[in-house]
Amino acid sequence: MIVVGGGPAGSASACFFAKRGKRVLLVDAARFPRRKACAEYISPGGAAILEHLGVLERIRDAGAGRWLRGMRIQAPSGERHLVEYADNSGGQKRYALSVSRLVLDAALLEEARARGVEVRENFRARDVWLTQRRAHGIVGPSGARLEAELVVGADGLHSIVARAMGTRQPAGWPRRLGLVAHWAGVDWPEDYGWMMVGPRDYVGVAPLDDKGLLTVGYVRRMPLKRLGSAATAMQAGLAQYPELAKRLSRGHISGPVLGGGPLARRVRQPAGAGYALVGDAAGFFDPFTGDKERLVALVQVFVQTPRLMNFVIHRLQQRPRLARELGRVLGDLQPARLDLVWRLLGP
Ligand SMILES: Cc1cc2nc3c(=O)[nH]c(=O)nc-3n(C[C@H](O)[C@H](O)[C@H](O)COP(=O)(O)OP(=O)(O)OC[C@H]3O[C@@H](n4cnc5c(N)ncnc54)[C@H](O)[C@@H]3O)c2cc1C
Repeated sequence: MIVVGGGPAGSASACFFAKRGKRVLLVDAARFPRRKACAEYISPGGAAILEHLGVLERIRDAGAGRWLRGMRIQAPSGERHLVEYADNSGGQKRYALSVSRLVLDAALLEEARARGVEVRENFRARDVWLTQRRAHGIVGPSGARLEAELVVGADGLHSIVARAMGTRQPAGWPRRLGLVAHWAGVDWPEDYGWMMVGPRDYVGVAPLDDKGLLTVGYVRRMPLKRLGSAATAMQAGLAQYPELAKRLSRGHISGPVLGGGPLARRVRQPAGAGYALVGDAAGFFDPFTGDKERLVALVQVFVQTPRLMNFVIHRLQQRPRLARELGRVLGDLQPARLDLVWRLLGP
């Protein structure tokens, strides 16, 4: 097998195939550790997968990450609701993990190596080797072909595997721009993150450790004209959230502001002759919800309609059982069911 891309989807897929006795080559254009535009918040369900893969231990050994009770969501009205997570059975609390992708992705890649996966960093796949629309392998940076039984496209939003297989589709909606930055020198006493939704945008913040390092993600509609540098656009966006801006002013941006847009991606056929797409290469909707099928589209409608968002946050305060259920869905502890939305909005 050849896996193109060593992000979480690529490394986890490589581990999966190696465990089943396959010979796996994983290539990535970057050298790790590398940053990735991401708000770096892992749901309790996601953290359980990392534990299963044996990666949590590596993260602990690196002294990185912070466990969080949940995410406090603030509606445009200012009303707030803390989304927490608990198991269905017995209601035992579950925690989300906030960890820098510098550490997470390198730990996952190390795990793949430890399982016998051959990893080549600094190796950009130029194309998929195709005959009669079937993938036979990849074309490396020098033009040399590498053969494989299956090409796994785990190469993110701009997947060359998806493009080569002709399966990408235009994703008209939502058209959003996402920017992320690390902030250093800001104490974060709360054991939860903040998600603040404004009339045209939203911002998520979470501590990455106990030493004052935060991850800040800002998402807004795609602007019609250029906004200047990513850092300028981000600072201008954050200024609309005075409580957060005041807290961030105690520290400073550390490293580059990453991101871009439009973020949404769609593919017609995630698997076919000789190829399979995983992770963002297989499609992406919006960072707020991750990928929970049709529910995400509805949550997007809430996020983009301030009055509806105000109503939902108010409802969650009034209906604790429903709020707990939503917590389990957003925490990837139970599948998303559309009727949850009707119960949230209904009388
Ligand atoms: C603003 C923003 C905030 C987000 N916040 C969160 C969050 O808080 N929590 C969360 O769970 N998710 C979040 N996400 C989503 C999350 O970042 C992605 O879903 C996740 O990174 C997808 O992982 P992946 O392995 O599919 O791709 P990636 O992590 O993008 O990895 C793809 C890899 O492929 C490599 N690659 C690309 N092209 C080639 C090539 N031609 N040859 C070789 N290698 C190549 C790249 O170098 C890269 O290492 C956010 C996304 C955005 C944009």
